[in-house]
Amino acid sequence: MRPTPYLLRAVVSAAQRKNSVSFIGLGRMGSEMAYNLFSRTLVESNGAARFVVCDAREETSHAFVKNFSAQFPGAQVQVATTPAEALLASRTVVTMLPSSPHVRNVYVEEEGIVPALRSLSAEDARSTLCIDSTTLDVEVARNVAAAVQNTGAAMVDAPVSGGVSGAKAGTLSFLVGGPEQAYKLAHPYLLHMGKNIIYCGDSGAGLVAKICNNLILGVQQIVVGEAMLLGQKLGLDPKVLASVINSSTGACWSSAVNNPVPGSLPDKSPPCERDYEGGFATSLMLKDMGLATDLAESTGIPLPMGHAAEKIYADVVSEDPELANKDFSSVYRYLRVAAYPKSSLA
Ligand code: NAD
Repeated sequence: MRPTPYLLRAVVSAAQRKNSVSFIGLGRMGSEMAYNLFSRTLVESNGAARFVVCDAREETSHAFVKNFSAQFPGAQVQVATTPAEALLASRTVVTMLPSSPHVRNVYVEEEGIVPALRSLSAEDARSTLCIDSTTLDVEVARNVAAAVQNTGAAMVDAPVSGGVSGAKAGTLSFLVGGPEQAYKLAHPYLLHMGKNIIYCGDSGAGLVAKICNNLILGVQQIVVGEAMLLGQKLGLDPKVLASVINSSTGACWSSAVNNPVPGSLPDKSPPCERDYEGGFATSLMLKDMGLATDLAESTGIPLPMGHAAEKIYADVVSEDPELANKDFSSVYRYLRVAAYPKSSLA
């Protein structure tokens, strides 16, 4: 039988719920964010705070608790098996999920956050704060926020920029949307996980900002791959080319931090140095390009570069499914295979 030493067992008292924070979605970003949020809240509360984690893969939650408990012996961290349980255990809940269907599932479906909020007293529901850091469809996020707010609870969308390295270092930028009062409630929690907390406007505004940012990022990562490929074909050392770009007008995050060519950034360790493992999955970038082109369609804004980039990421994922889960800078590997079809160097 699977060991379950950390499972939430007892009904949580109101006092315990007040001092508790739950985190749902412990993936590449969420696990790092939860670690920073919990460790800093623990110190701030002089060890009094309690924590709850929840992930669709229960073994992921248990691994997180095991690691956190080893780093902070005596810390109270438990595993919830459903989002409802996580909500009932804590007054503050942070979610970091892949996309719209997962957010809908965690918030509004059976055993989700909204049904759990409805089961609370009006006062307990009113004292609850939900922070969703997922990058998802703006309309879905607004509907979920409205469902949460209808129960009296507060909610913000707070998608992030800064990648896995920023999540680990606690230097993320949070782009926040929601009522100003909810933003103020969320601010101290977000500061435990990031450095720049930017209020963007009403519910969904954080997501609009995030989607616009990732539209730029998705296009830039492709063109950096193209330039690095072209320069090498014409005989340039990738290290020299990267240093030229990074001290010139072509410099951007994709060239200076997430350069896709192994050996091009000797002082850094981008995902290409680990066969594109870790980082931001190509499938998630494809999702974000789709979010941007959907918004463009509904607003009548032309996005020729965005549409072209979306198609390239779609081709990467369908023609080389192994790259779907690797960092999106692996688009370079895809382009390289197209440039050197018979080469094993790709
Ligand atoms: P991930 O796929 O690594 O993690 C998602 C986690 O959510 C997984 O552990 C999964 O098991 C869990 N999950 C899925 N459905 C669930 C459910 N119904 N209930 C509970 N848990 C569930 O994704 P990630 O890279 O951590 O990205 C998370 C979000 O952050 C995405 O929206 C992504 O676009 C955004 N983002 C990612 C990065 C990055 O560099 N990875 C950067 C900025 C923003």
